[in-house]
Amino acid sequence: MGRGANDQGTLIIGGGVIGMSIGWRLAQRGEPVTILEKGQAGQEASSAAAGMLSIANEVKFQEDLSLLLRLESMKLYPDFVGDLESSSGHDVDYRTDGAIAISLHADDTAELRNLYEYQLEKKLPVRWLSGNEARELEPVLAGFVVAGVMCPMDHQVDNRKLVEALKAAYLRAGGELHEHCEVEEVRLQTGSSPEVLAAGEVWRAKRLVLAAGSWSGLIPGLQSWLRPLVRPVKGQALALTMPSADFLTHMIKTPDVYMAPKSDGRLVVGATVEEMGFNRDVTAGAIYELLRGAWRAVPSVYELPLQETWCGFRPGSRDNAPILGKTDVEGFYVATGHFRNGIINTPVTAKFMSELILDDSTPELLQRLSPSRFVRGG
Ligand SMILES: Cc1cc2nc3c(=O)[nH]c(=O)nc-3n(C[C@H](O)[C@H](O)[C@H](O)COP(=O)(O)OP(=O)(O)OC[C@H]3O[C@@H](n4cnc5c(N)ncnc54)[C@H](O)[C@@H]3O)c2cc1C
Repeated sequence: MGRGANDQGTLIIGGGVIGMSIGWRLAQRGEPVTILEKGQAGQEASSAAAGMLSIANEVKFQEDLSLLLRLESMKLYPDFVGDLESSSGHDVDYRTDGAIAISLHADDTAELRNLYEYQLEKKLPVRWLSGNEARELEPVLAGFVVAGVMCPMDHQVDNRKLVEALKAAYLRAGGELHEHCEVEEVRLQTGSSPEVLAAGEVWRAKRLVLAAGSWSGLIPGLQSWLRPLVRPVKGQALALTMPSADFLTHMIKTPDVYMAPKSDGRLVVGATVEEMGFNRDVTAGAIYELLRGAWRAVPSVYELPLQETWCGFRPGSRDNAPILGKTDVEGFYVATGHFRNGIINTPVTAKFMSELILDDSTPELLQRLSPSRFVRGG
């Protein structure tokens, strides 16, 4: 595979968590895999994320498909992490302490109660907390926190460690990774293997997987009906330094922000949701709002050192669910559109896509995520 005339194996465009996890699972099964990455692997959305594996806290009315997928992925997470840590030799800081969603006044409380009832309807193991019960679990919460919902199923990883682990496991399994190698054109022709042009060379393989996150719809050469309908949804976030590892144990979701404490002492506070195209500015207003939101819920964050600020681009699809599977062109696959849930949905995506590619397996849930559900005209 790779440069030249050979047409074996799988070529993957994009080395985020999605491309690397699919590549790792394929390489583990002996498939020759090459990933072409325009920058450094994992440095886009996959590093910008907060690493929350949110089941209950991501429940949205009318987004049942997304919930089903996350539940499926969480069943896989513990074994996925075990396999990844032993294959890579890297720890990914998988934490099962859970999350608490809190309300700060009467309006928030009515909204939280409404969501809580929906979570119960979906049979999620959530528990209503009074303000005092929430403060018993997390003493740094503000005295005026009115109520909370404990979400024990909501776990987390350190996504930057996840990125490093996936890269190491993929390389150890025999995968090839070319960084700073931007795919400039995709060439698909009936009856011949897919090809791409990257770094001035032609790369050919039996199969091609498009996993370029927010950029998946932009690569030249793809006919419009094959281009996934994804757009960049900008998220700004920041990290504070906690004074001790037990400053906060649970992830906290407030009406304005979330906070995710990591075992290395970082407290990740996020995130804005902005339709700004690929604008990479980190703005004073966004950082101000994030800090204000964190301070309202946990007043003592006022004293914490500000460690880092950043932004990233969530690949958003039209229905907020990923776009996964085969296309109408033989050998051309798509795995993108993971929006706010790419870290939680990494294990299920890697499983579905590797089994589709190697075994032609198409479980019902995967069929429902097919690229054909959005057909672009022209
Ligand atoms: C602020 C923020 C917070 C988030 N928090 C969470 C969270 O708590 N939990 C969660 O589950 N999800 C979260 N997400 C979402 C999650 O980060 C994404 O869904 C996930 O990282 C998408 O992974 P990906 O591999 O598709 O994309 P990316 O990580 O963006 O990777 C795509 C890769 O493709 C490469 N590429 C693009 N074009 C080309 C080309 N032409 N040639 C070669 N390579 C190319 C890019 O350089 C990039 O490395 C968050 C996202 C943001 C921005």
